[in-house]
Amino acid sequence: MLEILDPWLRTAAERIHTEAPHLTELDQAIGDGDHGTNMDRGFKAIVAALDARPAPDPATTDRAATAELLRVVGRTLISTVGGASGPLYGTAFLRASAAVGGLSEPATSAAAIVAALEAAATGIAALGKSTTGEKTMLDAIVPAATAARAALDGGGDASATIAAARDAARSGAEATIPLLATKGRASYLGERSIGHQDPGATSAALLLAALADTVSG
Ligand code: ADP
Ligand code: MG
Repeated sequence: MLEILDPWLRTAAERIHTEAPHLTELDQAIGDGDHGTNMDRGFKAIVAALDARPAPDPATTDRAATAELLRVVGRTLISTVGGASGPLYGTAFLRASAAVGGLSEPATSAAAIVAALEAAATGIAALGKSTTGEKTMLDAIVPAATAARAALDGGGDASATIAAARDAARSGAEATIPLLATKGRASYLGERSIGHQDPGATSAALLLAALADTVSG
């Protein structure tokens, strides 16, 4: 799993950097115009943490090393991203870390991806006191977790599982356009939030697309 996590985070950081102006533009329409810069700062810090990491102790299992790195990512996002999305994404990674750490061996990458996504969705909903249909990142992440679970239960491997998650996240993010925002800053706009894609749902879809590309090579 570590052989997926490290390159995913690096690819995600590059994509977030490239897409930062677009994410910021989306946040200018229904928020305060900082989502791209927030995420770019966080993922730059993640890459710096990856570069500074010693090689994992050979005695550590892949599952434990993966859980440990997910925890570092969560803490890094919480301490560097700020805004609403920092604690929410940070918590998502901390919950994913606990879920992956708690998997029974032998754990496949597909099972880890599903457990991580489900835990991330639950963690965001708990911290954000939010659910689907409120025009937030959950509108991408919850359908992604559901689709990934269905793919895994249908016998899908890591590549099939994450492809299902990617597709559902992209559709979910696009489906936020007609929604009325009822959580976060966008909710202050009331009806004027309608007609714009949610920035957090868009960054979540971007992260899952990067993961799918990493897994399928
Ligand atoms: P801020 O809104 O503090 O400026 P960002 O712009 O970085 O933070 O992130 C905004 C995104 O955070 C939104 O597009 C939305 O997806 C997500 N978000 C905000 N509040 C919540 C919440 N309560 N639950 C889930 N996601 C939320
Ligand atoms: Mg913002």
